Amino acid sequence: MENAAVVIPERLSRLPELASDLWWTWNNQAREVFRRLDYPLWRQTAHNPVLMLRQISQDILDARAADQQFLSVYDEAMEALAAACGARDTWWHHRYPDASGPLAYFSAEFALHQSLPIYAGGLGVLAGDHCKEASDLGIPLIGVGFMYPQGYFHQSVSPEGWQQESYEHLNWSDAPIEPALTPEGQPCIVAVPLGNRTVLVSVWRVRLGRVKLYLLDTDLEENTPWDRELSARLYGGDRETRIQQEIILGIGGVRALKAMGSVPSVWHLNEGHAAFVVLQRIRELIEQGDTFESALDEVRRTTIFTTHTPVPAGHDAFPFSLVETHLAGAWGTLGPYRDAFMALGHYDNGSGPLFNMTALALRTAGAVNAVSQLHGQVTRDMWGPIWPGVSDDKRPVRAITNGVHAPTWLSSELSRLFDEHLDAGWRDRHDDPEVWARILEIPDEDLWAARQSLRQYLFAFIRERARRRWREEHVSAARVVAAGTLLDPNALTIGFARRFTGYKRPELIFRNPDRLLAILNAARGPLQIVFAGKAHPADETGKHHLQQVYRRATDPMFGGRIAFVDDYDLHVAHFLVQGCDVWMNNPRKPLEASGTSGMKASLNGVPHLSIGDGWWAEGYTGDNGWLIDAPETGDQDTQDAADVEALYDLLEHEIVPTFYDRNPQGVPTRWLSFVRRAICSVAPRFSARRMVKEYAESLYGPAMRPRQQEVR
Ligand SMILES: *Cc1c(COP(=O)(O)O)cnc(C)c1O
Repeated sequence: MENAAVVIPERLSRLPELASDLWWTWNNQAREVFRRLDYPLWRQTAHNPVLMLRQISQDILDARAADQQFLSVYDEAMEALAAACGARDTWWHHRYPDASGPLAYFSAEFALHQSLPIYAGGLGVLAGDHCKEASDLGIPLIGVGFMYPQGYFHQSVSPEGWQQESYEHLNWSDAPIEPALTPEGQPCIVAVPLGNRTVLVSVWRVRLGRVKLYLLDTDLEENTPWDRELSARLYGGDRETRIQQEIILGIGGVRALKAMGSVPSVWHLNEGHAAFVVLQRIRELIEQGDTFESALDEVRRTTIFTTHTPVPAGHDAFPFSLVETHLAGAWGTLGPYRDAFMALGHYDNGSGPLFNMTALALRTAGAVNAVSQLHGQVTRDMWGPIWPGVSDDKRPVRAITNGVHAPTWLSSELSRLFDEHLDAGWRDRHDDPEVWARILEIPDEDLWAARQSLRQYLFAFIRERARRRWREEHVSAARVVAAGTLLDPNALTIGFARRFTGYKRPELIFRNPDRLLAILNAARGPLQIVFAGKAHPADETGKHHLQQVYRRATDPMFGGRIAFVDDYDLHVAHFLVQGCDVWMNNPRKPLEASGTSGMKASLNGVPHLSIGDGWWAEGYTGDNGWLIDAPETGDQDTQDAADVEALYDLLEHEIVPTFYDRNPQGVPTRWLSFVRRAICSVAPRFSARRMVKEYAESLYGPAMRPRQQEVR
């Protein structure tokens, strides 16, 4: 319901500015402003202040404008916003006072907030956290991605457990976006050659404190209906749509930055989707008089590429004919070097040569990194043919382990506790392990009370969603149970939430149902498991895994101790990673490049229980969680069997007894030592702050510096 007539009182005139800068999502004071502004509306809009300001009543606004308590929170938040947008007193400014121009960061998805559905999962969350941290550190980052008007799909599950996908058209005025303008103040629209035609692309802007994000969109009246749909959905189309999207992101992104007067000095490609950036840049350098070779050298010197998966299907590759068709109009001055360029993407992974976007990026980026130490090794092994004759330890792939943005993922319950017990500057220095030593001083009772509250919030959230389905959709009682309504708010709760796909083995824990059942139903210490996650719309296998899990959730045999929460997104993720007691991950090693949800959980005192894959291979310290450590067998089926027995053993002999071992006051002191060690070992090392500083010091800073000193 639109409320066009509402007039924002003069005293609150900057509310729209606060609502449209996504910085509010990671600042407690700013969040408090919107909570207090109209709490029911805050909940009803799933925390969307832009929408709130369109729906709020004049009476409430007027009342807040006269409410001293509200005004003081508002004033503090506005001051904090001004400080968070200032360019001077930042880590980057002190570290690299004379660094040249901005850094362009390209990604096909960005997960910033649930009100902007332009992400599917881990890759997007990583990109979003990277941008937020860059804003905090003062790194002059400009993000470039897509504005998908229909976003990624919403998930529901049929009575048979089959995933149903639905797409919702975003109402532009309900989202924190605005048209991007050129230096002349005109809406930015650029032309992108696609095959034999030209597609127009408009550009939206998202504000994130010091960082800006530009999102490309082809839904313009001047385009054909087919082209208007090109940017409609994230990962929604076939190969043909995908390559066209990637051409628009790469070529259109470079053109959009130019049209807006940005001259990046470093280009970071997050995953291979954006690798056509290098085509456009080489072309422009040749236009300015460079040879192909010198243009390629310059591009290499200033391009950073991060690869994110060891799973072959995760790397986009296209038949050469498809690439030639869609790049037909893109060559310009690069025309004479067409074959040389096409060779840069040539890669044969055993099933014939294709144009591989990762190969293109590996061959044209001067710096390449993987996202955990283990993934670094796997990447060097996997892409050997890119560097013929170079032994695997010499291949130029470094590892920068992922991290999560602490202010985004840390619960307010724990923040408050840290405010009381840690040094006053803990927020600013949260990547310093020393800061966390004082976590030992938090009294057991207080820490346990915070953990208990977080579990209660999760269950209240789960019940409320189930109630809505029951009331509005009249789903069966079995499905109300499957949604988690029989969960025991005091029982040990394991969380498992991530994309449903084969290598993550979502239903591994059900392999021996009798043994699992005995653990779940132990009279003195029951256990329950909450699942969530989407399968990629084209991943039939993933949907079958989901169905297997869903059937367990509706099976009376498990007594309502297995739940499936549908439509996993950032909002659901916040409740889950904060409210469970243990976070579980059991991928088939070494296919999990990093994984980040376990970091979010550990940060909140939810210890990780995982195979030693991805980040856990370096994150596990022996006492900050649990390692599922069965011997490697080399055969999938026997490996599954060995892993699941090791998992049951840990649950039965370590995890469940520790959780239910209580002192006379009912506090599980041994458990809390795992909680403390999870927080203090993970918060500093696996924070986006540590990660982004590592990118800055090993890649961004060095690539930016010479530019000014160099005489070209
Ligand atoms: C963190 C997160 C992910 C990634 O989880 P992994 O453990 O890395 O698979 C996916 N989706 C959402 C919504 C997340 O918040």
